[in-house]
Amino acid sequence: MNKRSFIVGVGSFCVVAITCAGFIFLPSGCKESKRLALRYDIQEAIKQENVVPVVIIGSGPAGLAASLYTARGNIDTVVIEGNKPGGLLTDTTEVENWPGEKSILGPNLVHKMKEQVADFNVHFVSDAVSSVNFTRWPFTIKTEGDITIRALSVILATGAKPRMLSVPGEQKYWGFGVTSCATCDAPFFKSEDVVVVGGGDSAIEEAIQLAKYVNSVTILVRKDKMRAAARMQDRIAGYSNIAVRYNVSVCEVIGDGLQVTGVRLVDALTKEQLVMPVSGVFLAIGHDPLTQVFKDHVDTCPMGHIKMFDRTQGTSVQGVFAAGDVEDHRYRQAIVAAGHGVSAALDAIEFLHEVGFDQSVSQKISRKSVPALLQGQQAHVVEIGDLASFKEMIALHPLVIVDFYADYCPSCMRMLPDFEAVSAEYKDIVFIKVDANKAHALLEEYSVHKLPCILAFKDGALKARFKDAMNRKELREFIQKIAE
Ligand code: NDP
Repeated sequence: MNKRSFIVGVGSFCVVAITCAGFIFLPSGCKESKRLALRYDIQEAIKQENVVPVVIIGSGPAGLAASLYTARGNIDTVVIEGNKPGGLLTDTTEVENWPGEKSILGPNLVHKMKEQVADFNVHFVSDAVSSVNFTRWPFTIKTEGDITIRALSVILATGAKPRMLSVPGEQKYWGFGVTSCATCDAPFFKSEDVVVVGGGDSAIEEAIQLAKYVNSVTILVRKDKMRAAARMQDRIAGYSNIAVRYNVSVCEVIGDGLQVTGVRLVDALTKEQLVMPVSGVFLAIGHDPLTQVFKDHVDTCPMGHIKMFDRTQGTSVQGVFAAGDVEDHRYRQAIVAAGHGVSAALDAIEFLHEVGFDQSVSQKISRKSVPALLQGQQAHVVEIGDLASFKEMIALHPLVIVDFYADYCPSCMRMLPDFEAVSAEYKDIVFIKVDANKAHALLEEYSVHKLPCILAFKDGALKARFKDAMNRKELREFIQKIAE
């Protein structure tokens, strides 16, 4: 009998017992750690439903690189894609610092990574995690789509989300002049004056994106210098309509009730305030780690990032690992995230071997768990481009939800998989996607001036409109409200 279990101690010492094997061993780095004690009994674990050896939460460079190593190591790997499949790279335009690629668009890089791992049979779950329980093993992960997965090991790779200014007017005018995606929204600010807030690489990128459309773009930097790399700063020299204003902070976003008309600035040196008339405010002020769901389950650092132990990608819970922007406050580079993803995968593989995961265990769980998890993920979205067919659809069906998207808009492309995933949950509702590049008559008819745009039709009439990207949870709530 190959029954093994081990117990990992908390505090300055740790005891690991392997029953039936008749000896005791210490996993690497265990002595110095303060990590949660759990009971790791592989034979008990595999009796449960939906058991997966490796669950990776997040599908940016860290998650995808991790999945490449675990799946290539012949270990069933499930990637829960999250509300932003592909992560922040999908918002980036040109990437010049990915080894082996002279220049590649962020979304294309993600696409290539995803294609590569798909060849190794990584299973993607188009959903986001709503809660976890890391106090018992196997770990429990629940998704917004109501899937429960039991994971023998977990890699947290949820990345980070754009930071907000938290000043008056910002929330009120969000989507009405305030945004954080120039690639998506620059075409809506043609010949207007806009500002980009921030002094990092993102601010430069946003400004360059905008310069092609707007009359003027001013980068507002709160200090007397930019944080952006010198090479990035050099890029703006060729644009006569980009200016940089130093030592200023935005203290209020001003509007006319409908949309942004200006920003109130405060000068860091004189403390004087002034109003700058603009119609667009593009935020590029950095990111916060996405730890909402895990922060009570694993130790975090003062800045909110997940704490790593013993120079590995291990967290405060043995068997739970983390990689990428969710744990890295220092480097924050896609390639570093990918590297940490690989380290996390190697750590997870080592952990699995330590708890007795082998080919026979793998075979026992893989046949029943993964297929069951992927059931019910069948999307039903119709693509419509002409006005007559569209009108016919909304006349015929009591409830129709429409997603206007375009391939040049990253948040649209990010939202589309979510839209398709949610469609699988509502059999009685018709879901339509409209490619804005090919449906000008539809854009005119329904006054769609910002992408993505979600319209809801009930009994043939337009009932609701949402002019921004929604995550799965928000989309469900939106649909629920219309359906009531
Ligand atoms: P960063 O954290 O690098 O920069 C954030 C900027 O916003 C800083 O200048 C910061 O100012 C400023 N800021 C923060 N809070 C406020 C506030 N409340 N008001 C005004 N300004 C504020 O974030 P980025 O998103 O620019 O970059 C993140 C990472 O991604 C970096 O590592 C970057 O190199 C990388 N990146 C790479 C790209 C590429 O290679 N193509 C493109 C985009 C990003 P301060 O300096 O005073 O703290």
